Amino acid sequence: MDKTDIKNLSKAELGIALESLGAEAYRLKQVFRWLYKAGVRSFDEMTDLSDELRHKLKGRFYITHPVMLDSRRSASDGTTKYLLKLEDASTIETVFLPERDRATICLSTQVGCKFACSFCASAPFGFVRNLKASEILDEVLFVRSKNPAKPLTNLVFMGIGEPFDNYDNVMKAVKLFNDPDAFHIGARKITISTCGIIPGISKLEREGLQVELSISLHSADDDIRSKLVPINKKYRVKELMRACNEYIKNTGRVITFEYILIKGANASAADAMKLVKLVKGMKCKVNTIAYNKIRIKGYTEPSPAEVKAFLKILRDNGINAIHRKSRGEDIDAGCGQLRISRL
Ligand code: SF4
Repeated sequence: MDKTDIKNLSKAELGIALESLGAEAYRLKQVFRWLYKAGVRSFDEMTDLSDELRHKLKGRFYITHPVMLDSRRSASDGTTKYLLKLEDASTIETVFLPERDRATICLSTQVGCKFACSFCASAPFGFVRNLKASEILDEVLFVRSKNPAKPLTNLVFMGIGEPFDNYDNVMKAVKLFNDPDAFHIGARKITISTCGIIPGISKLEREGLQVELSISLHSADDDIRSKLVPINKKYRVKELMRACNEYIKNTGRVITFEYILIKGANASAADAMKLVKLVKGMKCKVNTIAYNKIRIKGYTEPSPAEVKAFLKILRDNGINAIHRKSRGEDIDAGCGQLRISRL
């Protein structure tokens, strides 16, 4: 019988599997604690289980763990990017973002991505496959093991891949991240970012989870947005906003719109006014960030004066806008850039 990837099971699925091995109900919490709090890589390390149960677990399951191929740490802000090899030799990137009062991990959800956003370093790789829930969990277990002194506070699904294109595995991972017996990370500390997959927004709305939803908007104009985020040809700005408004109405939660400012593309005063018109009155905030230069594209970041003018228009019109500093610029921290740098 082929062995099962134990971390790819939900809590309920693992409970049933343990019961079928004759284990008492309380063993579930113990196994969870070893897997997700201790982050063990073998059943032999689960020292408070009986020899018999460990033997049975070894016969039925295996424990995945990625292999690090490369890592780069920013000298300026400590951002660290890891290139990880999975069981099938696929590679993904995971980024650790330490700050004074918190530490965030930026997670990939797919090997490659099919959405071809024109500013994204991952796009040229194309899509290979979805990550399993266990592989998403392993990103956190790996980064946590490398940074034991800095307690993890936040998770963002903003790495390679589109989370709503791998909805079920992402949700399985989110529920384990949130579970007090596993990672115990508050739902409000978990952000799922989408390029605008409307069915995913609607599905998340029905989950009843308190996670944060973030939309990679980047333009309020259909023509411009379709060039930057081609899925906009399918899910137009107007329909996207309708889905966002439904989400806000039915969940009572705030949505964040991400807006990468790219010189000559979407960062003019006229672009800012279009954005104001689009989101004014919505329960939302806008996060702007200046484009993080990557070698394969001709895009550049706007000047500080242009950024300031863009933000002033938003704020003067009552939009809750926050400008984020680009992290890890000296290590190519934008998504996909470490994989590209090895080509
Ligand atoms: S920005 Fe996100 S959705 Fe767009 S191509 Fe890159 S990884 Fe895919």
